[in-house]
Amino acid sequence: MEILLKVIGYFFVWTLYSYTCHVLAHVRFKYNFLQYFHMKHHAYKYDDTFWPPWHDYLFWFGDLRSSMDVYLTFTLPLVVLTFFDPIPGAILLAFHYVYEVFLSRNVLDHNPKITGVITRYLSIGSFHLKHHTNVRCNFSFYITLWDYLFRTDDKGAKAKRDNRRLKASKASKAL
Ligand SMILES: [Zn+2]
Ligand SMILES: [Zn+2]
Repeated sequence: MEILLKVIGYFFVWTLYSYTCHVLAHVRFKYNFLQYFHMKHHAYKYDDTFWPPWHDYLFWFGDLRSSMDVYLTFTLPLVVLTFFDPIPGAILLAFHYVYEVFLSRNVLDHNPKITGVITRYLSIGSFHLKHHTNVRCNFSFYITLWDYLFRTDDKGAKAKRDNRRLKASKASKAL
């Protein structure tokens, strides 16, 4: 029971970490190495194969940039965690391996057929694909919680933008 609670607790921290990395990967500045790695994720066409390519099984995602993107955003914190708390760390690492290799391409994350209520809670299908059409929203992985909490989901981000525009136009009218 204690292990289960730890896994759930660490899972939330881990998803917050990956959300933060993803937000940072979309901040433009010259030496943003996260962005350099992550841009490969956006260049990839996800409609090619249901089964993972052979190199995915070896946890190599085709090239250094794509692999580093996964390692820094997801794998590294779990490896560190496994040193300090081996059993929950290993459980999350196993989950991460299965998800990344078998589900993250066009089975869940980039599957346009997944729509509706499930995408309100899990950042799969249409929720994650919106991030591919608008890189200023929907940064969460696995669960959508952090986008809703920080109002970076597609509706929250739009509302924030509209609000800023409204304030700017009011300010310019007041001048
Ligand atoms: Zn994606
Ligand atoms: Zn992205």
